[in-house]
Amino acid sequence: MTRVCRFLSYLLLALPFAKAATLAQQPRFDVLAFYTEKAEPDHVQFAKDAVHFLTERANAEHFTFQATTKWGDLNQERLKNCQLVIWLNETPSDSEPRRAFERYIERGGAWLGFHAAGYNDKDTNWPWFVDFLGGAVFYINSWPPLPARIAVDDIAHPIMHGIPGNFESPANEWYVWNPSPRLNNNVRVLATLDPSNYPIGFKDVLTSADLPVVWTNTKYKMLYMNMGHGEKIFTSPVQNQLIDSAVNWLATGGQHRTTEADGVEISPTAIQVNPRTGKFYAVDTHRAVVSALSGDGHLLKRISVGKDPEAVAINPETNRIYVANNASGSVSIINGATDAVIATVNVGELPYAIAVNPGTDKAYVAKTFSNVVTVVDGTTESATFLQPSVQPDTVTVDPGLNRIYLTSYQSQEITVVDGASDQVSSIKASDHLWALAVNPESNKIYAVNAGRANVAVIDGHSRATTLANTGAIPCAVVVDSTLGRVFVANYGSGTVTVMDAATGSVLAILNVSPHPQALTADSADHKVYVVSPREGTTTILDSAANAVLATVKTGKAPFAIAVNSKTHKAVTVGIEGELTVIDGTTLKTSSPASPDSQP
Ligand code: ZN
Repeated sequence: MTRVCRFLSYLLLALPFAKAATLAQQPRFDVLAFYTEKAEPDHVQFAKDAVHFLTERANAEHFTFQATTKWGDLNQERLKNCQLVIWLNETPSDSEPRRAFERYIERGGAWLGFHAAGYNDKDTNWPWFVDFLGGAVFYINSWPPLPARIAVDDIAHPIMHGIPGNFESPANEWYVWNPSPRLNNNVRVLATLDPSNYPIGFKDVLTSADLPVVWTNTKYKMLYMNMGHGEKIFTSPVQNQLIDSAVNWLATGGQHRTTEADGVEISPTAIQVNPRTGKFYAVDTHRAVVSALSGDGHLLKRISVGKDPEAVAINPETNRIYVANNASGSVSIINGATDAVIATVNVGELPYAIAVNPGTDKAYVAKTFSNVVTVVDGTTESATFLQPSVQPDTVTVDPGLNRIYLTSYQSQEITVVDGASDQVSSIKASDHLWALAVNPESNKIYAVNAGRANVAVIDGHSRATTLANTGAIPCAVVVDSTLGRVFVANYGSGTVTVMDAATGSVLAILNVSPHPQALTADSADHKVYVVSPREGTTTILDSAANAVLATVKTGKAPFAIAVNSKTHKAVTVGIEGELTVIDGTTLKTSSPASPDSQP
């Protein structure tokens, strides 16, 4: 069929219905799609399938859909009553449609782009479009087209309503972007090629890329979907629903529907055990309280603290609990004997991470967007300030050496603060450091490089560094100094890498629930607990035998865990404050009983 015939046939199909629809109800919105037939055959095939699909959706959902191969139609007049512009397989190369599109978007118009419609490289010469796309520049691709598992990053986003957290996307050519749109703070990545797909390709093989597939630049009403290569794209009901939702979301208001749910900030130290009393202290951000639980997992008290409490650090020597209150810019100090707040110290805006040196009774507080670390002196209950010249995301203390280690995702170095002199130095590690642990026995440091799939094993004395490979997107680390082993949670691979604590050599790789994000070790019981927020589960490992014992349900979106190594009870905390107790002996779970139901 020729181009004209095909275009006309869609008009003929659409017109009788359009008339009927106006009698019954006004079209909900108008959509105009652009495509070319002078491109790679697979891209043309996709465009034709998309026109067919969208024509059917328009009929069923009472919106107007038109498709054209003429970029000249991308003009102010034609776009006047158009709620959504779709590019199916191409970007305009002439300046007139480009300018018209820029004006349309900047006046609030919406755009949906598929696959090659986002393609840009050094010859594209349209910086506005690259910025609009979130800074994403085409880098490499997989070949030939293959199906892949897609992981939904943002289940709270309106277009993901009813979409499973993980689904199979039909055969497609997958694009890797460099820079990745994920680096742009305005971008919300909504779906990513699941790293479990790697390696993917029979010729051009992607082995470990971070590959955002669906994203929106929140500065605009826009959405990009990498799908769009070949004839299989519309063979998945789930993916069809996603495309349908994207059209509706963009055409009926786009970003304005954004909900609050995406704004939760979490910390891996949201729950901690007080080694002195055995009690658990867990933040409940929504209720602005810290929940105190007995060592066997009974809820003792909800302690009111500042707004958005996020992180806990404990000094067993003084029996004090330090709570970083993100929205209040303060640290609450709780007396562990009475579980009452005895002081509140202002530390500056957005405290996020906190660690305490029991020997000096100093708590070190890292704050988002700040290169000032606040030091809370537990004795005087007052604050002083350090300028380490990084914006740290993590703070870890080696009490033995009285050193404070800071990492920042943006920095390739670990910043070292001498706790006695406050002198600052640095150790070169790798990019995108995310988590850090210290072995107090050997003074070794384990710095997890989420961007490089390895762990830097650093001697705290000599600063000699070796790199040990992990699974994809390692994001959490715990040391069992009794066993002499280090456990790294690999978010991308759904595994835990077990390493020798002294050498960093890999002893085992254990499969856990997908997307593990936090872990803790019971060194007395030889168990490691691995939390997967998206699955709502915790996988329990026998850390001596390097074996998986069980996977248990631990509430809604558990993200942090602590374990009492005397009672062998572990407690997870969820994003909405839900607590789940795991009995390490029976491997059974329970909800902590409320204070009222206690005898
Ligand atoms: Zn392609």
